Amino acid sequence: MQKVLQQLILLQELDTRLDELIEKLGDLPETVKTFEKQIKNEKEQNEIRITGIKENDVLIRSNSAKIEDLTAKIKKYNEQLFLVTTNREYDALTTEIEFNEKAIKDTNDLIQQSEKENKNMKEAHSKAEQNSEEMKTKLVEAKESLAVTEKETEKEKAGLEEKKKTLIVQIPRNYLSVYQRVRKARHGLAVAPLMRDACSGCHNRVIPQKRVDIYKKNQVITCDFCGRFLYVANDNEEDE
Ligand SMILES: [Zn+2]
Repeated sequence: MQKVLQQLILLQELDTRLDELIEKLGDLPETVKTFEKQIKNEKEQNEIRITGIKENDVLIRSNSAKIEDLTAKIKKYNEQLFLVTTNREYDALTTEIEFNEKAIKDTNDLIQQSEKENKNMKEAHSKAEQNSEEMKTKLVEAKESLAVTEKETEKEKAGLEEKKKTLIVQIPRNYLSVYQRVRKARHGLAVAPLMRDACSGCHNRVIPQKRVDIYKKNQVITCDFCGRFLYVANDNEEDE
């Protein structure tokens, strides 16, 4: 058999087994990534919330101080009311008092708004914390499962990769690039044996002349339909 075809068959075997090993990990690598991303996201959101809560606390304090000042002013004006001698002075003072009372009401509204915002943010914060804790537990579990499976396969995987590395440099570049392109486009399978006169990759019938060439084994033949390299799996089939 053509040396390059033998090399391609072997490469396909190595790649198929490597794919199987990756398959064994299932969605664990993706799960780990997703949990890590979500935990990071929750953390960032909570940092934003904490900043918001702190800013509101500052606002509440300054508005409370403002109300104290306004209350003191009103108290002072109320005392002055007893001392005024003219209506004009009286009116001026009551206008001031009303103005300050209105300011107190507005400031109180602002405080309530800040408090409401803080209440919501604190609730969201603790929910996110709880959610994060749950995800952290799941992340640890997923990481452990992943580590166990990786450990089970790591030795075999390293061996396969080593063989592949040695093999790949021996395969002519043009064949290798076809192999890689077809493998990518055809669900990982770039080399397929003939099966009942058809390509076992795409199940399309291979024309007689091509089959003859494949059996002769002196050239590299690809499937007209899927582009996979074709070969005879079992020498006994030659008798068919
Ligand atoms: Zn095919």
